[in-house]
Amino acid sequence: MTKATLPPIEEYIEEIKSIWDSHWLTNMGDKHIAFQKQLEEYLKVPHAELMVNGHMALELVIQAFELKGEVITSPFTFASTTHAIVRNGLRPVFADIKEDDCTLDPEEVESLITDKTCAILPVHVYGNLCDAEAIRDIAQRHDLKVIYDAAHAFGEEHDGIGVGTFGDASMFSFHATKVFNSIEGGCVCFSEDRYKDKLYNLKNFGIRGPEVVESVGANAKMNEFQAAMGICNLKHLDENIQLRKAIVRRYQERLSDVKGIRIWKEQSNVKHNYSYFPIFVDEKEYGMDRNSLFDVLDRNGIGARKYFYPLTSEFDAYKGMFDANRTPVAFRLSNQVMTLPLYPDLQTEIVDHICDIIAGNAAHNL
Ligand SMILES: *Cc1c(COP(=O)(O)O)cnc(C)c1O
Repeated sequence: MTKATLPPIEEYIEEIKSIWDSHWLTNMGDKHIAFQKQLEEYLKVPHAELMVNGHMALELVIQAFELKGEVITSPFTFASTTHAIVRNGLRPVFADIKEDDCTLDPEEVESLITDKTCAILPVHVYGNLCDAEAIRDIAQRHDLKVIYDAAHAFGEEHDGIGVGTFGDASMFSFHATKVFNSIEGGCVCFSEDRYKDKLYNLKNFGIRGPEVVESVGANAKMNEFQAAMGICNLKHLDENIQLRKAIVRRYQERLSDVKGIRIWKEQSNVKHNYSYFPIFVDEKEYGMDRNSLFDVLDRNGIGARKYFYPLTSEFDAYKGMFDANRTPVAFRLSNQVMTLPLYPDLQTEIVDHICDIIAGNAAHNL
């Protein structure tokens, strides 16, 4: 389904050599400092605080904002988004998503605001950008913080503006399975200077000085080997995105006319990173439901992914707490969606083979 991107091994060895001179393995060494700076440039953001992974970046920025009460968010996401809210002692309130791009529906968000609401936590699902303007207007009118889960949107831009500048903060993930990786890794981007020291301290146990611990922090420091991998992979990212784009184009060409299959579409004015290629199976039109098509692909050795299924509001961990009927669009789409294999060196023949099976041209495989 995906294949972690690695740089040429010589480049990585060259990059980590200096670690053997310094013996500095973690705690904000040279690689960490250099990588963080490169990220700020690449993402076109004023501040990026580097973290050990995307999840801790999200947890810690929520903590830094000292929120209380309810956070309006999407259930159509990875476990991390909802867990980060709950692990901060806050209550997630799930709003429904838009049919076309799977991001939060601003009207649904506004209808759920109460005097307990403190923030909105939208997700740029599959790299589809949220309606950031509408969300900003709602947040301003109701005095709410906006924190984006931008894990899928690394390097994306809207009209030339980095998506990491949206809202009060945005989190990116550099996990091995993402479009860009530092093995594990992540960062939180923000514009207000005062959060710089706060987030820096929070990722290092809240330690401010040798004898001063000012907050109940975590350990979310990125180590030097991860930072070195990020530095190496960043050099090849644009070229990898072009390769992904060609694969997405192929999928689009081959699948656009298949009855009952809705495929991913670009948004206008967005520089996409082509991180995922989701399709939505309409059982009535296609003659088979998502699970059956998934099994057919699986029997043919093709690893698609039910991403996102189930909704986070349906997790065993949250049993009895939420009602998926309140987000009917998200619930339906989670039963129709799967993401198809996509990585830079995926061969065209394999893409064609997958499309043949989906288009029903490979009936003997059924
Ligand atoms: C990957 C991901 C995360 C978590 O990132 P990690 O770096 O794996 O901790 C959060 N939200 C979404 C939507 C993701 O896809």
